[in-house]
Amino acid sequence: MDRTYYIATMGCQMNEYDSEYLARLLQEAGYLPAEVPEKADFLLINTCAVREKAEQKAFSLLGRMVSLKKTRPAMILGMMGCVAQKQGKDLLDRHAGLDLVLGTRELGRFKEILRKLQAGERKVAATELDGKPAPALLKEGFFKGRVKGFITIMEGCNNFCTYCVVPYVRGREVSRPPLEIVREAEHLAREGVKEITLLGQNVNSYSNYESQHVGFAHLLKMIHAVTGLRRIRFTTSHPKDLSSELITAFKDLDKLCSHIHLPFQAGSDRVLRAMNRAYTRRKYLDLIARLREVRPHIAVSSDVMVGFPGESREDFELTLDLIEKVQFDSLYSFRYSDRPGTAAAAFEKKIPEEEKAARLAELQKIQKGITLKKNKQMLGRETEILIEGLSRKKNQLTGRTSSNKVVNISYKTGMIGKLVKVKIKYAYANSLWGEDPQDVE
Ligand code: SAH
Ligand code: SF4
Repeated sequence: MDRTYYIATMGCQMNEYDSEYLARLLQEAGYLPAEVPEKADFLLINTCAVREKAEQKAFSLLGRMVSLKKTRPAMILGMMGCVAQKQGKDLLDRHAGLDLVLGTRELGRFKEILRKLQAGERKVAATELDGKPAPALLKEGFFKGRVKGFITIMEGCNNFCTYCVVPYVRGREVSRPPLEIVREAEHLAREGVKEITLLGQNVNSYSNYESQHVGFAHLLKMIHAVTGLRRIRFTTSHPKDLSSELITAFKDLDKLCSHIHLPFQAGSDRVLRAMNRAYTRRKYLDLIARLREVRPHIAVSSDVMVGFPGESREDFELTLDLIEKVQFDSLYSFRYSDRPGTAAAAFEKKIPEEEKAARLAELQKIQKGITLKKNKQMLGRETEILIEGLSRKKNQLTGRTSSNKVVNISYKTGMIGKLVKVKIKYAYANSLWGEDPQDVE
């Protein structure tokens, strides 16, 4: 009988990329995808440790999977991702049903680990952090029929923002060789993928010296030359590494989408310093102005935190002021939470939870108004969208503008994967409605 696998993925797109990487290896080893975790012979949980809530979610899922395993003792149960890396092999001692702990930098060893598990070995831990990024897997057919694809171009982070656990669980920065990334992009394009997102904790500090030095803007140029690709996105960039070359790339490379995700975290220089972000609010505002100069309609999204230790009402108001000044198209906002082992966890003047919640609600209300206003500015405009697939609503297709806004249109056959021009008829809080699609080939 066929064996099956299921990978439950939480957290960022990099985790999704890693899950798909292992899915390809499992398929090569003869496993078929299971529709639900309950039916899988090999069950992997890919976890996130960035915020306290994400970590709790990982453990509650693990608890459920350990109970599930009691009814199916032959099942192999593994945990991967940032929580697995952070807790290491202690997890194996604490959770009776857990068979594997796979660290964030050990994907390259998965084949060997799988052989061990298939030979009956249990309680396997692989959590070294100095491993090289896993080599490209160009398995034919895996991405057929997909419109969008992802490529992790660099791993790890050297920035040590004082609140962040990532440098501890993802290790030091390593950039993958440019030619390997281009080969992967060509492979995706051959499979029919039209849009690629380049991933990394800090993509714009991409730097590979293997043949000659290739920086991020240069890498973008190389990928831009891949035939068949229509759109390129990247995430996440750090304001301190946003070079003039990258700003120029927005002028020169027309496949580069008109959107940048540029986390600012806080609007007060005092808090930014305490966070070790290495830029000021002025520098941030200046970067946005320069980006808008070369691409007037570029959409800007960001991450922000409220309630960092010592954040005063005045600091918080500077955050609100920056939000008003920039007018973000969308914003991910979080309550600061202590991450054990980080510098900020030991900082004094912690902000009470109720105060954090109140600040977050105040901030989100302001942003909601801005997002809606930005969406309404699209009314009546003709805009290009890439149709990604069926919408959750019946008889509708869904796509995105180059600026990353969701646009739904009426269903028509043969449209998925196409770039079309539509006229924006309605604007809502989270999406737009387009009409009269015209082919752009
Ligand atoms: N590499 C990216 C983001 C990584 S984590 C960057 O540098 O921007 C994603 C987001 O989670 C961060 O931008 C931050 O806003 C949030 N985050 C990270 N640590 C956090 C913590 N301890 N508490 C609350 N939010 C946090
Ligand atoms: Fe975390 Fe800062 Fe690195 Fe982003 S840049 S992953 S926030 S340490």
